[in-house]
Amino acid sequence: MTIVRSEVLTKFPQLLFGMSTVSGGVSAGTFGLNLSFNVNDDPANVRENRRKFFSALGITEECVAFTHQQHTSHILSVSVPGQNDTCDALVTDKKGLFLAISVADCAPVMLYDPRKSVIAGIHAGWRGTAKRIVEKSIQHMIRDNGTEPADLIAFIGPSAGKCCYEVGEEVAAQFPNECSAKNGNGKYFLDVKHANLVQLLENGVRNSNIEVNKDCTIHNPLFHSHRRDGKGSGRMFAVIGLQS
Ligand SMILES: [Zn+2]
Repeated sequence: MTIVRSEVLTKFPQLLFGMSTVSGGVSAGTFGLNLSFNVNDDPANVRENRRKFFSALGITEECVAFTHQQHTSHILSVSVPGQNDTCDALVTDKKGLFLAISVADCAPVMLYDPRKSVIAGIHAGWRGTAKRIVEKSIQHMIRDNGTEPADLIAFIGPSAGKCCYEVGEEVAAQFPNECSAKNGNGKYFLDVKHANLVQLLENGVRNSNIEVNKDCTIHNPLFHSHRRDGKGSGRMFAVIGLQS
């Protein structure tokens, strides 16, 4: 099983971060290590995939808080494991509670405030990014947890890359010019990771505290990609938590 790790987050031994990939699962075909019950995969296989992934991280599903992601900018502070209502970001300061963000092309953005001992897991596809969910998550942590943005450590995970992520002009227009490129055929390609990097920097996160993963989920078969596999695409979890 291949698990994506983060250099900036790994520096903190009390912090656990890992993101699943396609590899190491029991589901058929492109589903591989699919962790979602909402994609027409066999539920028994999803349960086994989750057990394997959480076990590889050294945790169990009973200590994980889940989102119900709807491409919103709704953020929830949580203190108990289990399924939550509609939200696309979770924040906690609770030790032993792990936050799971589900992705297949959308960017997972993980924040850690080592001074206040608070974490956030954020689902940032183009819609959530356009709604400034990363900025709103930082504001949420400032308001509710007393976070200073300069203290934040941030990881932007594997997502659809600017190499492959073709979008309409009306989508590209929702982002700063530097976040998209127009090719010779007049097609627009969005850099959703860069758009989130810009939000982090604009909100006071230090560049030296930010890591941007280079991988593109669409062209790298190690990752689930909704754009590439459509209905056959599984979902990956990016998981962050403070060890108890
Ligand atoms: Zn690509």
